[in-house]
Amino acid sequence: MRNCDVLIVGGGPAGLSVASALSDDINSIIVHQDAEIGRPVRTSGGSFLSDMRRLSIPEKYYQLVDRIEFYSDNSEAVFDIETDKMVVLDITGLYRYLASLSDHKSRELILAAKFLTTSRQSDGGYISTIRTRNNGEETIHSKYIIDASGWQCAVLDALGHGVKPNRMGVGTEYEFVQENYPMNRAILFVGSPVLSGYGWVFPTNYNKIRLGVGVIKPDTDDNPRDLITALLASGFLDKMGVKVPADFEVNSGIIPSVSFDEKAVFDNMIRVGDAANCATPIAGEGIRIAIEQGRLLGAALSKTIHENAPQYLRDFEKAYAAKYARDYKIGFWANQRIADYEPADWDKSVRRIRKLTESQMIQLLRSQFNLRNLLRTAVLHLKRKFFGR
Ligand SMILES: Cc1cc2nc3c(=O)[nH]c(=O)nc-3n(C[C@H](O)[C@H](O)[C@H](O)COP(=O)(O)OP(=O)(O)OC[C@H]3O[C@@H](n4cnc5c(N)ncnc54)[C@H](O)[C@@H]3O)c2cc1C
Repeated sequence: MRNCDVLIVGGGPAGLSVASALSDDINSIIVHQDAEIGRPVRTSGGSFLSDMRRLSIPEKYYQLVDRIEFYSDNSEAVFDIETDKMVVLDITGLYRYLASLSDHKSRELILAAKFLTTSRQSDGGYISTIRTRNNGEETIHSKYIIDASGWQCAVLDALGHGVKPNRMGVGTEYEFVQENYPMNRAILFVGSPVLSGYGWVFPTNYNKIRLGVGVIKPDTDDNPRDLITALLASGFLDKMGVKVPADFEVNSGIIPSVSFDEKAVFDNMIRVGDAANCATPIAGEGIRIAIEQGRLLGAALSKTIHENAPQYLRDFEKAYAAKYARDYKIGFWANQRIADYEPADWDKSVRRIRKLTESQMIQLLRSQFNLRNLLRTAVLHLKRKFFGR
């Protein structure tokens, strides 16, 4: 049986960031079911420049975006961003960079290996079973176990700490070379091509663009792949100047879309990233949060192990809730409301977005709700209810 201090299940941004923030004397194992880090790509990579700088992510891993366009069937809104610019991440490059941050540590990365199950031992640790590349099974004893397995919540599920998310965002994306597409421009589209979700066109820093759609299941029976096929036939993309060539790569992924739950620490098992439902409820943007929370968890866990003091983990959990609970609860309420929108509702929404300032629009995308914006939304809501506008 292998032994380690910390077993991390999942080598996405959350798990890799936990490993990079553990102190050098703590040994960890990351079990990752894919054969490579960062491939296949399961996300579209929209994020923000200020966060990437704060997290010290090198510029070569993202494309800067300073124009955001919103489209619905009959409305559009265009923003030239001055301050909080967006970026689109090179997912494969970034995730490999995140992995490299723990290469010098006593960290082992087991690829093409699936975590199957775990059980708590009388010493407080865990014995976990994994299926390895050659279909054999191995066991790992660890003092701590981190669920960083994304929407699969593999460890939570194995330990009976709740069920897998019963509502999920499901997305598919085509990535291809697009001649003459301005690579500083991101597009978000809503309305009839993708009811109960939204679509996007994101530029990358390697001369390709990503055209994707995401929907919420089980709110809709629509399948993202069929929606893209219908979108290509619809002519909706013409007004955005997007044309899909015969040759493209397909990415697809799943994200939880359930209400915020503050609990992250379960004895010596801690969940982080999408396994803790970290992505913003309105846009489903979670990479920067997975990196940040992963690093905070790695630091808190190191202190807990060194000082034998679980308080640091409890503080981590409290800080996580204090930072996100309010915004995510409000955002989830909005997420459920817009899931029922008809195309005409989306037209109205895009007209309302047009009236926002740049910073209000960015706060909306980030699911950040300050009191002023909330009051403004409440007034708009009342106006619509009583005066029909
Ligand atoms: C279609 C789509 C579009 C998105 N767009 C954006 C965006 O524009 N911007 C943004 O910031 N976020 C976006 N997100 C969300 C973002 O991808 C997630 O929030 C982020 O990936 C969470 O990171 P994570 O490390 O927690 O989980 P993941 O990235 O899901 O990583 C978990 C890893 O664990 C592995 N794993 C799972 N189960 C096991 C197991 N049993 N054994 C071993 N390994 C396992 C999986 O293979 C996976 O690679 C999008 C998501 C989707 C689905």
